[in-house]
Order: sequence, then structure tokens, then C-alpha cells
Amino acid sequence: MQLTQRAKQVDRRPMTWLESIYLWNIAKGMMITLRHLFMKKKTVQYPEEKRTFSKVFRGLQILNRDEQGRENCTACGLCAVACPAEAISMEAAERQPGEEHLYREEKYAAKYEINMLRCIFCGYCEEACPKDAIYLSQTFAPSNYGRDGFIYKKQDLLIPHPIEDPAGFAKARGEKSVTN
Ligand code: SF4
Ligand code: SF4
Repeated sequence: MQLTQRAKQVDRRPMTWLESIYLWNIAKGMMITLRHLFMKKKTVQYPEEKRTFSKVFRGLQILNRDEQGRENCTACGLCAVACPAEAISMEAAERQPGEEHLYREEKYAAKYEINMLRCIFCGYCEEACPKDAIYLSQTFAPSNYGRDGFIYKKQDLLIPHPIEDPAGFAKARGEKSVTN
């Protein structure tokens, strides 16, 4: 019975003397090596050299602020519900009088964590967020020696303050649109 359309007839003829010393096969292999010596190199010398990502690359998450530096996240939990890997957890808190310059909404995330060992960078959290508070940037989570280093806390994820560090804010934001 044929399981695929790509069946290939195996040649079971006894080998000739020339074939039995494998010289021809070695020569064929060397020809392939030689051909690749003159082809354009695809190797990237990371970390000195970094490859450019596609515009739709989904990397490390960033928690967004508005132009005044207030955190966008209102701890609604929609991103955590949408996450197929159950990588997001958070704790909500109520904004107190005098904290209006810190949090844009009346409720905010006092704790926000993403487990990068679980995350599959699908982008569902970004899609689910009604507040433009989380998005996947064009960087990736750096390597680490311990599992704890892959649990990203709110302070690791928050974008730099746009007034205190405008360059860092713009860099972290990348080409993402501003929809505050
Ligand atoms: S990118 Fe996907 S897997 Fe990662 S935290 Fe967001 S929803 Fe979860
Ligand atoms: S990041 Fe967005 S979806 Fe997730 S809790 Fe904050 S506001 Fe809600």
C-alpha cells in the first residue's frame, strides 16, 4: 500500500567496483562543499551582528504607558484569559487620590507577571487588550541561567517613562502605533 505520493523506487543493484570504494560519492560531497564556499553566507555573527526582524516579528512583551507616562493597564485580566499558555498573572489594585499621574485608569495592575518559559509569543494578549497596554516588541527575552530569570515582573516589562527617558520610550515602542 502506498502511503504518500512521493514514493521513490530504491535502487538495489549490486554496487560496481567504483561505487564500492565510495570515491564518486566523496567527490560529489566535496563538490557541494565547494559550491557553498562561493555562495552568499547566511550565518549571522551574533551577538556582534544582529539580524533584522520582520515588521510583524513578535518578541518580548512591553507594558505600555501613555504620553504623560501613566500606565495603561487597568488589570482587567483579558490578556490572561486570552493566553493559551496561561503565562500571565496579575493582581489588581485601586488607584488612590493623588496617583492620577501614575495610572491612567481607576484600577491598575499592582503585580503583573509573564512566565517567558511558557509564552509562545502568539500575540493573543496584545490582541485581547482593550487599553493598548501590552504589545509584543521587536526584541527577544535574553538567555538566562535560572528559571526565575524568565519570570518577568511588571518593572521588567514596563516601557521607559516618555518624559524621563524619551529616547528609551521611543526605542521600546518601535514602530507600534500610538492609539492612546
Ligand atoms: S504572547 Fe501568547 S503565550 Fe505569550 S503571554 Fe501573550 S498570549 Fe500568552
Ligand atoms: S494588559 Fe490589557 S488586557 Fe491585560 S490586564 Fe492590562 S489592560 Fe487588561
